[in-house]
Amino acid sequence: MGVCVSELHKFLFDGLPVRGAIVRLTDAWVEVLRRRSANTTTGAYADPVRDMLGEMAAAACLMQSSIKFDGSLVLQMYGDGPVKVAVVEVHPDLGFRATATVLGPIVPDSGLSQMVNQSNQGRCAITLDPRARLPGQQPYQGVVPLADGQGQKIERINAVLEHYMQQSEQLATTLVLAANATVAAGLLIQRLPMEGSANLLVRPGHAEFADPAEEVDEPYQRLAMLTRSLQPEELLNLDVDTVLRRLFWNEPMKRFSVQAGGQTPHFSCNCSRERVGKMIVGLGADEVQSILAQRADVEVACEFCGVQYRFDAIDAAHLFTAPTQRGAVETLAH
Ligand SMILES: [Zn+2]
Repeated sequence: MGVCVSELHKFLFDGLPVRGAIVRLTDAWVEVLRRRSANTTTGAYADPVRDMLGEMAAAACLMQSSIKFDGSLVLQMYGDGPVKVAVVEVHPDLGFRATATVLGPIVPDSGLSQMVNQSNQGRCAITLDPRARLPGQQPYQGVVPLADGQGQKIERINAVLEHYMQQSEQLATTLVLAANATVAAGLLIQRLPMEGSANLLVRPGHAEFADPAEEVDEPYQRLAMLTRSLQPEELLNLDVDTVLRRLFWNEPMKRFSVQAGGQTPHFSCNCSRERVGKMIVGLGADEVQSILAQRADVEVACEFCGVQYRFDAIDAAHLFTAPTQRGAVETLAH
């Protein structure tokens, strides 16, 4: 089998105020899991955590691709279960990283509420952090509970996000998500914001305006039903063209070509051995020596991707003898 490259495609339904996007994270998702499972402290994710994080990664890529915003999108689920927090960060070029902090044992087949929302205080937060932040400017953040309007716990990531989009953006959204050990995938359709005059038509409680509103809504409801008929196995195992053809064979669709080198989802974490080296130098030679007196190496894990960097006594000596660290050399020599 060849290398399967992650992909994201956008589309519009011809003549209808509905847009969509489909994502398949393959190589990028496997890289997220590889880094985590290679971490000797945490080990691999339990299956339910892995699948939840995969669904979040797929959803975050879909959301980043559907907003006009130059900055990073951070999707978080946090609460009081064994998963303290799960977080995905996606940049405008669809470079992403993902991690979950797991504090306790995960029961097989755990749902969202067992993992992060045991006493119904769990939250989903979406943060938009502009790339060029003005002085004093705060990132935009929207937060919703992991429960519906009646206080019932929501068990699926897609339902949480549909609820979020309705609450904070007033955008009807339908999402199907699925993930396993090799693929994290998602399909999103969304009603486009209507032009000013059309919005005036949607006024609950005003009978005279009801009909045009329903006319606007009918195609969306039909497409949402088709979208929901997609099974997780289909989403995980079929290629993008087959999924779209099976679901929307009778719906005229406008596909956008993927620009060369443009929006291809990929794994991206800005940690590096060099950065960690600088951090270790920052600890000071005495501190590093005392760590090395107790163990074979100084070990630092990236908190965003789980990868571990190790520096043994020789590596550490090199760090402190680098040309920019003259002062530290003298300290080490004593
Ligand atoms: Zn990292």
